[in-house]
Amino acid sequence: MTKKFPLSEEKLREVIKKFSTPFHLYDEATIKKNFRRLRETFSWAENFVEHFAVKALPNPHIVKILADEGAGTDCSSLAELLISERAGVTGEKIMLTSNDTPANEFQKAIELGAIINLDDITHIEFLEKVARLPKCLSFRYNPADIMNGGNDIIGRPADAKFGLTREQIFDAYKISLDKGVKRFGLHTMIASNERETETFLYTAKIMFELAVEIKNRLGIILEFVNLGGGFGIPYKPEDNPVDYKSVGEGIFELYKKILVPNGLEKIKIATESGRAMTGDAGWLVATAIHEKNIYKNYIGLDACMANLMRPALYGAYHHITVLGKENSPATKIYDVTGSLCENNDKFAIDRKLPEIEIGDILIIHDTGAHGHAMGFNYNGKLRSAELLLTESGEIKMIRRAETLDDYFATLKF
Ligand SMILES: *Cc1c(COP(=O)(O)O)cnc(C)c1O
Repeated sequence: MTKKFPLSEEKLREVIKKFSTPFHLYDEATIKKNFRRLRETFSWAENFVEHFAVKALPNPHIVKILADEGAGTDCSSLAELLISERAGVTGEKIMLTSNDTPANEFQKAIELGAIINLDDITHIEFLEKVARLPKCLSFRYNPADIMNGGNDIIGRPADAKFGLTREQIFDAYKISLDKGVKRFGLHTMIASNERETETFLYTAKIMFELAVEIKNRLGIILEFVNLGGGFGIPYKPEDNPVDYKSVGEGIFELYKKILVPNGLEKIKIATESGRAMTGDAGWLVATAIHEKNIYKNYIGLDACMANLMRPALYGAYHHITVLGKENSPATKIYDVTGSLCENNDKFAIDRKLPEIEIGDILIIHDTGAHGHAMGFNYNGKLRSAELLLTESGEIKMIRRAETLDDYFATLKF
């Protein structure tokens, strides 16, 4: 599949003249389409709710677009709770899924009336001490191992810091029940950037079975099961997308087989997807400012890891196209770099691209999730602006670029 970009060359050149590179551009229409696809996947589930994982693209304009479509938020920090509040998302539209949680996050979540999803059994008492228990309490389950159909281990949540063990889960509900909590949910988040149907069905199966066991052992009828996020996107042009139809149908089958016969047909299904909502709806637009030929060929951009660190952080692939040369043959091999004094500050390594000239515009694809959001200020580099292409075709700046005044603002010198 060829990678899409929502503006014509002429329009993008106009935008660059007005705002100058680098910037992230987000496309409202794609975000809405992504949300509607997920809602369609769970159209069989009454009261399905997607809590958008705010950390993926923490900008209230984006949260508002999704909220207007019916989404809630998944927050994991005080700032994300405040972003959600500013976008008008409050009450149980918010789920706080945080870990190593400081008191002020719990306090703000309680003030907002959010669902609180605890990451550990000791947090029940901590939460009670620093605020109070919420009306609706949830626990994050860590299933230790993820198996495929043939019982091979395909993932090891046991090595991750998140969630409660299986036995702790039952104790946690019991303790909370004794403390007077009446409404409960169950949560897990075990996949990340996953595109295999099997993994989502596995998650649903263990969660539904656990919901039945919770009913049998404790008499608790859960209000919701949150299957987490982790829906992947095809970063490489040759990658297959998630087969949402088979995911939806497969989970519906499990729902009918496991929940319905056990009197749990009222359980709401929830997800908290980030990447699948905004990942392919964002692009980092940058200018080639240097070419350097030593043992390898380098193209240096006016953007760096401050703007997108996924390639440097975990070798993630982000597709790159050169404006106006989308159909030119990829005859050169380049490392595409930023300017940090870190050799891993690269957007691509040994990438086949058309011959690039200084001043060419490079479009880095799929930067809408965990892109700008991860930016940092090492080397005193500044984070870029964020622009939104609205459905009516207007370009709106929804966050300005940082300035050196911002950078110096925290100094006491
Ligand atoms: C990051 C995260 C998500 C979103 O993950 P995506 O891969 O962006 O869908 C959801 N829930 C929790 C708890 C997370 O940490």
